[in-house]
Amino acid sequence: MPERAAVIDLAAVRDNVRHLVELAAPAAVMAVVKADAYGHGALPVARAALEAGAGWLGVAHISEALPLRAAGIDAPLLAWLHTVDSDFSAAVAANIDLGCSGWELPHIVAAAQLLNTTARIHLKIDTGLGRNGSTPADWQEFVRLARQAELAGAVRVVGIFSHLAVADEPARPETDEQLAVFMRAVAQAEAAGLRPAQRHIANSAGVLSRADTHFDLVRPGLAIYGLSPFADRTSKSLGLRPAMTLRTVVSVCKDVPAGQGVSYGLTYHTAGPTTLGLIPLGYADGIPRIATGGPVRVNGVTYPVVGRIAMDQMVIDLGRAALVAAGASMIGAEAILFGPGDDGEASADEWAVAAGTINYEVVTRISSRVPRVYRNAVPT
Ligand SMILES: *Cc1c(COP(=O)(O)O)cnc(C)c1O
Repeated sequence: MPERAAVIDLAAVRDNVRHLVELAAPAAVMAVVKADAYGHGALPVARAALEAGAGWLGVAHISEALPLRAAGIDAPLLAWLHTVDSDFSAAVAANIDLGCSGWELPHIVAAAQLLNTTARIHLKIDTGLGRNGSTPADWQEFVRLARQAELAGAVRVVGIFSHLAVADEPARPETDEQLAVFMRAVAQAEAAGLRPAQRHIANSAGVLSRADTHFDLVRPGLAIYGLSPFADRTSKSLGLRPAMTLRTVVSVCKDVPAGQGVSYGLTYHTAGPTTLGLIPLGYADGIPRIATGGPVRVNGVTYPVVGRIAMDQMVIDLGRAALVAAGASMIGAEAILFGPGDDGEASADEWAVAAGTINYEVVTRISSRVPRVYRNAVPT
């Protein structure tokens, strides 16, 4: 085991995907593996998700899709966030489905004509999130142009999609409004002669809380990794298991007197004689600097981080009792920041609270300095 590691349990990924496949059926599941699978590693997660029954993969950028194809993954694969500098030709040549909000259409048509092939596209309608996607006002003209390109053989409109803004708060009415706009957009597309087989709008929160968002295909990201998109629901209550455990070992363990200042700024001073443990993870590893107080589990006890989190390291105050219980020293003892909770360790949610952010960001920002170690790569 590397001295510092994000351990990824691929059996958990497979179980989570199986659960989502069951929930979504008869809709198919697109496993969202953008941002290196939210820090879990795109290729191993993509393989595990496909083994467990996901029929599709989704990423933001073409530059994230191409390496999956290069690694031999031939499942349907959608990339939806482009710029004028995106390599549409490489995407079309690699049979990558492309999200299209409007301006991309001529670029995609040109790439398809150059390659003498037909590009697969999914038209995106902005149903209220205010980011990507055609506005409802522009939609009529957009579907007309898309149908024209389809008749010319340059594209095939495989899908129509949108993205939900508040699905993590299931009671909010805006999701109903988004669904109404979505269904009108689909009807308009069909009236223009398009026959999109894949209508999709659900993220993890939609898959888990509202069957009326499922349509033909759902796009869960966070839930695949076993985390809850809801502020008031745990992974376990949703039938999910967190896949990432962030662990290291205590690097230094030493006795200090009362009044010892700890870390930059000396914002913490020991209340009495105690023992400090040094944890070799910091903001260069993706631990938010602001997350003082975040939980670290050592020898079955959870200690809050004291003082400032630095680039490479952070400190926990072990107290004297823990040291006596452990014998001479805790140097080398395993230190777990978060995991599935099997050994009483905290979850990414608790680090999210300490950092004033969401669990998505906690796992996604774990940096490349932390090696990923895979467990259960082979299905059992
Ligand atoms: C990131 C993303 C998803 C997945 O969202 P989760 O909340 O992680 O399930 C789905 N669709 C689009 C367009 C996204 O950008």
